[in-house]
Amino acid sequence: MDIDDLAKRILAGERRALARAITLVESGRADHRQDTLRLFEALKGHGKEALRIGLSGTPGVGKSTFIEAFGMMLTRQGLKVAVLAVDPSSTRSGGSILGDKTRMERLSRDPNAFIRPSPSQSHLGGVARRTREAIDLCEAAGFDVVLIETVGVGQSETVVAELSDLFLLLLAPAGGDELQGVKRGIMEMADIILVNKADGDLKTTAIRTCADYAGALRLLRKRPQDPDGFPKAMTVSALEDTGLATAWDTMQELVDWRRDNGHFDARRAAQARYWFEAELRQSLLSRLEREPMKGLVTAAGRDVENGTQTPSQAAEQVLARLEGRLS
Ligand code: GDP
Repeated sequence: MDIDDLAKRILAGERRALARAITLVESGRADHRQDTLRLFEALKGHGKEALRIGLSGTPGVGKSTFIEAFGMMLTRQGLKVAVLAVDPSSTRSGGSILGDKTRMERLSRDPNAFIRPSPSQSHLGGVARRTREAIDLCEAAGFDVVLIETVGVGQSETVVAELSDLFLLLLAPAGGDELQGVKRGIMEMADIILVNKADGDLKTTAIRTCADYAGALRLLRKRPQDPDGFPKAMTVSALEDTGLATAWDTMQELVDWRRDNGHFDARRAAQARYWFEAELRQSLLSRLEREPMKGLVTAAGRDVENGTQTPSQAAEQVLARLEGRLS
């Protein structure tokens, strides 16, 4: 494969080249991994810094409707928009494939948009690395905004929050005074809560739900990376395209403030560190799962089972061998 040519075409903003490069990133083959590393070497120092926006919400809340309407609004302003997805489950949540083009038909036909469905990979570590590298590729291809979509389950929000500059939580209007069981940890990650479907019969409920969440957000500890009034809750209707422009203004207000106050770069630096450590842990683990370490681990496991070694002794011994091999 001509990696230099691929790099050139990505930098020229060719969507097909971008798609091809993401396929390379997703591949599990060792030679593809080498190509990927060479590609990143060729792209280094080029491209632009996109605004990375994470978006989470349970199935049915209106994520794809929102992304399509929001994405179209941005492309109308001349911005280039990429949509990626982090789907932690192999059995697709709620039956929908995140980032599915048929769910965002208009946006997928827009020449200034690029939509990439989530790969059918269940291992969250692998999905995280792939998404991280896909974001870098989108930036190399000159995209202004990268939207990273996920469903509200388990660890995937953490992954998306660690990949984005801004984290949006999309919620549906809910009756009663129960706050839809949104976990505190997820609330704490959100920069802006968007209560969707604020239209028709649901409008009044949406406004009340939004007020409930605004109240709940005020009770959270103030974060240093936020100006006054953030995190914020607002209503939108993805279907009727209302509130989206205001939401975009609010996002920009927050991002501008963070840039001016050094929080934007600090967050990216902290994220780079987080992913370095995650990558390191994952690589170490995979070395233990490969020969010759795999055999050693199995043998040490047997020693522990039959009482010849204690678990700590056996672990120490394996690590000593690993260190010997590494140094
Ligand atoms: P996702 O599973 O989170 O991607 O949700 P979808 O975007 O597929 O939307 C689920 C359902 O909610 C669809 O029937 C949409 O038409 C509907 N929906 C999405 N946004 C809105 C909205 O703003 N207002 C109303 N009334 N319905 C919406």
